[in-house]
Amino acid sequence: MPQHFLSGTFIRMSAEIAPAASRKGSDASITVDPDSSSRAPQVNPTRLWERLVQLGEVGAYNDERTKLRGVRRLALTDDEVRGRNLVMGWMREQGLEVSVDPIGNVYARREGTDQSLAPVMMGSHIDSVGTAGRFDGCLGVLGGLEILATLDDHKIATKRPMVVAFFTDEEGVRFGTDMLGSATAVGRLPLADALNLRDRDGVSVKDELDRHNQSGDAAWLYKQPPYAYLECHIEQGPVLLTENYPLGVVTGVQGISWWRIKLGGAAAHAGCTPMASRKDAGLALSLMRTRLHQLTAETPGLLCNFGLLSTTPGLTNVVPDTASGTIDLRHPKEDVLREAELRAQKIIEETLVETGCELLDLTQTARTAPVEFHADVVNAVEREITALQIPTRRLVSGAGHDAQELASIIPSGMVFVRGQNDGVSHSPREYSTQEDCANGVQVMCRVVCGLAGI
Ligand SMILES: [Zn+2]
Repeated sequence: MPQHFLSGTFIRMSAEIAPAASRKGSDASITVDPDSSSRAPQVNPTRLWERLVQLGEVGAYNDERTKLRGVRRLALTDDEVRGRNLVMGWMREQGLEVSVDPIGNVYARREGTDQSLAPVMMGSHIDSVGTAGRFDGCLGVLGGLEILATLDDHKIATKRPMVVAFFTDEEGVRFGTDMLGSATAVGRLPLADALNLRDRDGVSVKDELDRHNQSGDAAWLYKQPPYAYLECHIEQGPVLLTENYPLGVVTGVQGISWWRIKLGGAAAHAGCTPMASRKDAGLALSLMRTRLHQLTAETPGLLCNFGLLSTTPGLTNVVPDTASGTIDLRHPKEDVLREAELRAQKIIEETLVETGCELLDLTQTARTAPVEFHADVVNAVEREITALQIPTRRLVSGAGHDAQELASIIPSGMVFVRGQNDGVSHSPREYSTQEDCANGVQVMCRVVCGLAGI
């Protein structure tokens, strides 16, 4: 566990967070057969859409603020398990062999003509945040099932087996660790730690897996690795919409560094204490925020967010004696992100000296290294989008995805589908058109047919 020292103050690292090694991902060589890709059948946009709508009704609610219908399917709640059962029902209807691993990840397998070969895997997640739309995660899972149904429609056998997976608690909203299921399946997160995570009410992952009978004995992916992994996902950002690209080629996922900070100052009368003799914890945190935002202007691609800022005692006429906040730093390159972390610590240190405040807590609560997707998969995605004469560009994902976990053990990649409404996600306003969704899945179909061989 890495430890940092700042002005003699020990900066605690959250126990759950594994140190971030630079993860370049698997560099195994793979073959994507262009002839198989070009022979890939056409997926059925209507069937795909109808399933997205049907799954979107599971855990649906009427959103007061947007007046729209939203989705609330937090991992391993009754609603999410209803969603699991619906999707597993579709998997069985399609004649797929369904298995579940000990953390509740679900795998549906369609046999290939050569059973000795490792399968090509597609997938994503069906759990959601509390104020979600219908597309985040579900498009990748239902898109994978649509591809297998299309192969059945056309009676096409693939050489390699194909598997569609959905992973437990990708969002991390309920149990606090995102990509929980996929991180466990690839061996990054120990099973015992994952099972022990608890929600706000003290209910553990294990309690919920047992209550809903959602764990099984399927092999861990790191023990029986698939050949390659592909995920189709909505962009969750405005780039494709703004620049008029229906689909995007994802080259990787940026690194994330989260911190919790608490500063101590001195409470004082706001009318009687001269400005120069105050120790204003709120001012110190505000200065840090402004200076870190200035750092983003000097560092191309660096993102910074203070999502929480609060002071005590929170009274009009009292100088704040404590200030608490959270810092979220992101960048696609590990060396730049590490440099930004060091600069951030220096900014914090200098601001403490300047304001006379003290550091009560600075804890890293999450840290993932940037991930680069496998060049062969990235190139195949780009080639197949272009083959469909759809304009596209390469981009780095701003959000975390199951594909980044898979990328640490096998060649992986992603297709991004343009979002409407400024590309907003984690909101009932999240929306992608039927045409864009079908095109994203069609690209995935061409790439996986190229990987599996038809
Ligand atoms: Zn997602």
